[in-house]
Amino acid sequence: MNTLKKITCCCRKAIFLVERKHTEGIAVMDEIRLLIHLKDCPVCRIFQEQSLLIDCMMKRNQKFLKDKRINLSDDFKNNLKGLIQDKLVQKTGVMGDTVL
Ligand SMILES: [Zn+2]
Repeated sequence: MNTLKKITCCCRKAIFLVERKHTEGIAVMDEIRLLIHLKDCPVCRIFQEQSLLIDCMMKRNQKFLKDKRINLSDDFKNNLKGLIQDKLVQKTGVMGDTVL
């Protein structure tokens, strides 16, 4: 096996490295393997671009949900509890002391 083949990696490994790079980080040697693979593999380059885009959208969505506090009113919560209790009674025929 020549040196270049030892350094490069297959698509499966490249996809693993792309994902791991974004979550935990990868070693320098793996970074080099990935760069060499991405240089010659358009499919994995597209995967990396899409993965970055999805990560970016997820982070933006998490920030949006953190910033926007959703508070339900007590009336809404009580109405919801009543609806759930009614549905339970309809399905089971049992009226219980459900703690919601
Ligand atoms: Zn590939």
